[in-house]
Amino acid sequence: MRITGLETFPVPPRWLFLRISTDEGLVGWGEPVVEGRAHTVAAAVDELSELLVGRDPLAIEDHWQVMTKGGFYRGGPVLSSAVAGIDQALWDIAGKSYGVPVHRLLGGPVRERVRVYQWIGGDEPSDVAEAAAEQVEAGFTAVKMNGSGRLRHIDTPAELDAVVSRVAAVREVLGDARDVAVDFHGRFSTAMSRRVLPRLEPLSPLFVEEPVLPENTAKVREVVTSTSIPIALGERLFSRWDFRDVLTSGIAVAQPDLSHAGGISEVRRIAAMAEAHDVTLAPHCPLGPLALAASLQVAFATPNFLIQEQSRGIHYNVDSDLLDYLVDPSPFRFDEGHVAAPQAPGLGVEIDEAKVREAAERGHRWRSPVWRDSDGAFAEW
Ligand SMILES: [Mg+2]
Repeated sequence: MRITGLETFPVPPRWLFLRISTDEGLVGWGEPVVEGRAHTVAAAVDELSELLVGRDPLAIEDHWQVMTKGGFYRGGPVLSSAVAGIDQALWDIAGKSYGVPVHRLLGGPVRERVRVYQWIGGDEPSDVAEAAAEQVEAGFTAVKMNGSGRLRHIDTPAELDAVVSRVAAVREVLGDARDVAVDFHGRFSTAMSRRVLPRLEPLSPLFVEEPVLPENTAKVREVVTSTSIPIALGERLFSRWDFRDVLTSGIAVAQPDLSHAGGISEVRRIAAMAEAHDVTLAPHCPLGPLALAASLQVAFATPNFLIQEQSRGIHYNVDSDLLDYLVDPSPFRFDEGHVAAPQAPGLGVEIDEAKVREAAERGHRWRSPVWRDSDGAFAEW
């Protein structure tokens, strides 16, 4: 079997899908994207395609090595995300070629169902409490919320109180038998994180995410030792080498993104490294159906897995949602906040190609918001 072509599709709301074709008619799909940089990643995929066309799609590891190392310059979100989507599509072809879902090729299932959480926003206390109640009603056992809006490097007691009262409102709705995870989103300085984390301890969050920016990972240990709350991060780390230092600094949860951190091949390795540091895996996934399908394949084959993010109904998905490009939405049916193991070969989802082609005609130019503080200076989103 030989690879005959790679084609990318920028589809709303903010995704990029990749279709890899072969001379035997098997087709693989992946999702190589950096949110807000879809066209940049598409250009990287186009350049990488020169390494793939005419080659055996089943030589996944060799392609991974050449794509990540053969360009001399390595890593970073754009190249690692391009490789990630290509890697997903190659695993999709491999699964279809062998007639099994990808997790069977990764050693087979280690669990019967995978727990997923639902995003609930994070602005006003009454809003998040109401949103949490809706998700309890829908059967979810865990939700995630933003800890704050924009914050100054050292902000007022009122802002700190607001963070605590929002989480408290959600905890009250959830009770003790469900979980709330809190995303700090890189908006908190190390100083602010250290100040607020002890005040959140009585509310027992499942974890607090990105309490420092990725460029400040040297500060992670300081944050970890300041609190009993499990610390999660990793959506802006792109390889096992990026994860090496944070795994030794005492985080509890690693959050590589299947569409950013080198795909199924690399996240599988990051998970194994994490296990050796008593760290559990909760892949980041605010993206589309192929990124989620790839995440689930890893989740079903990974012993040290905690919980899966997914984007159904998330605020980014205004025009198109998680299920809109699938022929059959049943692989993403959530039952009591869990999803069953996909049974179809490859990534386990069938893409509605006509719909993707039509949506790509419209395309998108999604960009991350640029926030400014009350004095007009740039603020972290
Ligand atoms: Mg996050």
